[in-house]
Amino acid sequence: MTIHHLDCAGMCTVGGRALLGHGGLLTSRIVAHCLLIETGGGLVLVDTGLGTEDVADPRRLGPALRASIRPQLSLARTALHQVRALGHNPSDVRHIVLTHLDLDHAGGLGDFPDAQVHVFADELRAATARATRRERTRYRPAQWSHNPRWVEHETAGDAWFGFAAARPVAESVPGVVLIPLQGHTRGHCGIAVRHSSGWLLHCGDSYFSHTEVDTDSPRCPPGFTAFQRIVAHDNPVRIHNQQRLRELRRHHGAEVELFCAHDPYEFERLRTRRQFSHRPDGSGS
Ligand SMILES: [Zn+2]
Repeated sequence: MTIHHLDCAGMCTVGGRALLGHGGLLTSRIVAHCLLIETGGGLVLVDTGLGTEDVADPRRLGPALRASIRPQLSLARTALHQVRALGHNPSDVRHIVLTHLDLDHAGGLGDFPDAQVHVFADELRAATARATRRERTRYRPAQWSHNPRWVEHETAGDAWFGFAAARPVAESVPGVVLIPLQGHTRGHCGIAVRHSSGWLLHCGDSYFSHTEVDTDSPRCPPGFTAFQRIVAHDNPVRIHNQQRLRELRRHHGAEVELFCAHDPYEFERLRTRRQFSHRPDGSGS
C-alpha cells in the first residue's frame, strides 16, 4: 500500500537559472509531480500530467503554452505507462483527483476512461465555459472529450489544519481530501493525502519554487513571480493562499509535508521516499 511519486510530464520551460532559480542559461527542467496511491479501494491518481493522446498529437495542447512549457513528450513518462511499469492494471485506477484542469495536469484523463474524476465544481465550470482568453488557452477540451465520470465537489466540509476542506473524495478512500486553494484558477485546490505517519499536501500550482514557502525568508525567482501573476485568475487570492501555506508549514511542518506540481527539487526529495497509504484501522501499510 505504497504512495508513489511520479513525474508525468518532463518540461524544458523557457527561462534559465537567472529567471527560475535553477536549470541552464536559457531553459529549466520542471516536472509534473503526480501521486499514485495504492489503497484498499483501488488506485488513486492525483493529477495526471500529459497523456498518451498529447504525445500522439501535441497540437491539442495549443501553440502558446506548448512554446513556453516545451513538453518533452514521451510515452514512458505518461501516467498510463508508469502505472503499468509498477505492475498495475490501468483499469485499477478508480479515482483521479485533480488540483485543477490546466492542460499539464489533465492530459492523462483519457488514459483512464473508467475512473471517477474528482474536481471542484467551480473548476469544472470554468474549464467548460472557457470564458476568458486566458481560460481558452489553458483549458483544452480535447483532453476530456471522452466525457469522464466527473464527481464535482463543493468547497465546504470539515476543517483541516485551519483550512476549509471538502469531505474525503470517496468513502472508499478516506485519507484523500480536497483543500480549496483558489487563485491560480477559479477552482484550484490542494490535495491532502494521509499516510501512515502524517500528511502530504499536493499544492498544485499554488507556488512554483520551494523557496516560496520557506518560512524564514520566502523568495520567488523573478521568472516565476511574473509567470504566476500573468496566469493567475485572481492574484490577490493566490498570494493570500500562498501565505496560508507558509503559516501551515510554520506551525504544522512536522505533520504536513508540502510540495507543488512543478518543482524538480521537491520531486527529487520525495521520489524515493517510502510512504505508505493510510488505513482507517490504523495499521498504516
Ligand atoms: Zn501546472
